[in-house]
Amino acid sequence: MSDLITGETGDWEVVIGLEIHAQVTTKAKLFSGAPTEFGAEPNTQVSLVDAALPGMLPVINKEVVRQAVRTGLGLGAKINLVSVFDRKNYFYPDLPQGYQISQYQQPIVGEGEVEVELEDGSEKSIGIERLHLEQDAGKSVHDLHPAKTYIDLNRSGVALMEIVSKPDMRSAAEAGAYVRKMRSILRYLGTCDGNMQEGSLRCDCNVSVRRPGEELGTRCEIKNVNSIRFVQQAIDYEARRQVEIVEEGGEIAQETRLFDPNRGETRSMRSKEDAHDYRYFPDPDLLPLEIEQSFVDALAADLPELPDAKKMRFVEQYGLAPHDADQIVEDRETAEFYESLAEGRDAKLAANWLLGELFAALNKSDNTLADSPISADGFGRLLDMISDGTISGRIAKDVFVEMFESGRDAEAIVEEKGLRQVSDTGAIEALVDGVLAENPDKIAEYKGGKDKLFGFFIGQVMKKSQGKANPALVNELMRTRLDG
Ligand code: ADP
Ligand code: MG
Repeated sequence: MSDLITGETGDWEVVIGLEIHAQVTTKAKLFSGAPTEFGAEPNTQVSLVDAALPGMLPVINKEVVRQAVRTGLGLGAKINLVSVFDRKNYFYPDLPQGYQISQYQQPIVGEGEVEVELEDGSEKSIGIERLHLEQDAGKSVHDLHPAKTYIDLNRSGVALMEIVSKPDMRSAAEAGAYVRKMRSILRYLGTCDGNMQEGSLRCDCNVSVRRPGEELGTRCEIKNVNSIRFVQQAIDYEARRQVEIVEEGGEIAQETRLFDPNRGETRSMRSKEDAHDYRYFPDPDLLPLEIEQSFVDALAADLPELPDAKKMRFVEQYGLAPHDADQIVEDRETAEFYESLAEGRDAKLAANWLLGELFAALNKSDNTLADSPISADGFGRLLDMISDGTISGRIAKDVFVEMFESGRDAEAIVEEKGLRQVSDTGAIEALVDGVLAENPDKIAEYKGGKDKLFGFFIGQVMKKSQGKANPALVNELMRTRLDG
């Protein structure tokens, strides 16, 4: 499903490759023992290694290696038993070493693949080029003083995984689905918290345009986009900008750009360096990283069930539609909530209520499932009352609203408000007779052939019962009275 852009001179295809920087979930930095918690006072989590004092030597953090290998396995990628750390040389005021330790020609993880589901329900496989480990830089703080810039080195040396995709995406929607899926996998694995607002997951978007079937065009790279919505907006804007330039006879300059969320535009930051400008060379302070196949095998044996496998299981075990299953497995908490809700119940009813009522209510109140006022158990008891006929589905929606607002039990609300469904034949017969007695003219019309009036009679009975009459029973009794 590639969304072509229609320009003045015909159709254009957008080509997108993403580089995702994911902060590795570990207590300590990549090459030092300094802590990594978010939100600490500036410069309180900086060892002498992170501050690059002369003579300090990096020591690899084994936990980071473990997390990178687990991520590679989760992406179905090739794990390289030997990888090499290189120095990537450049100057930033918040990069005290004057270089970043990264991996270049021999990354720890090679090619892999990620399956994404698109809006029309189809699936597409996006290639992963590589995953390598590298250090993060510090932060320059420009807004604390009118004329000065402050440097916070807490982030200096924090371990990042850079996950580079192949240029396989063809629309902003595909790129959005890819980032969402990647975040989901990382969170399942517990290798990155995926928090884009705090910057633990950042995305560089490489965008080019071409005529369908032609060679790849020149790309621009939009740096550090920090939400999925912005990724999509930046790509859409950038693709149109490039189409306009090319159609007017211009050429795309390979450059690094920034996305401005307030204006919804990208703007030039600097012309793009080529790899040779960084003068990469193997870091002489670090030996090549060698890991054993047995280490990899042990991690592989211990991976959690990942979203794709869980989705397939949900489709088979619970009979869910693939698209519903996809939404439910996106995060682990939702999947767990669903499984305890569906346990021993009508699994499709459970999925409908979870994706429908509960998700809508959470969205509206800007909450996540973690702060849901309704537990899986309490929600389940509401569904039980529908299944056993205590209340109708219609009434259950009102009960749900009340549960969500007050956090009270379904049973208590139903009892207090007298919402139990009336399934007592005598009581319903009385309502049916009442309605018929009030409408002799309508009965005549009905008998004269106006079949549609049947619905009117049913509606009147339901109204009289304040929605509580068992609809199946009302139907049955009304039929007997009118047609029997
Ligand atoms: P660099 O560090 O120079 O950005 P990388 O190899 O790390 O290079 O990343 C290149 C990224 O750009 C990859 O995600 C790749 O898929 C993507 N890419 C390469 N060529 C194109 C192109 N013509 N159009 C869009 N994306 C591209
Ligand atoms: Mg790049």
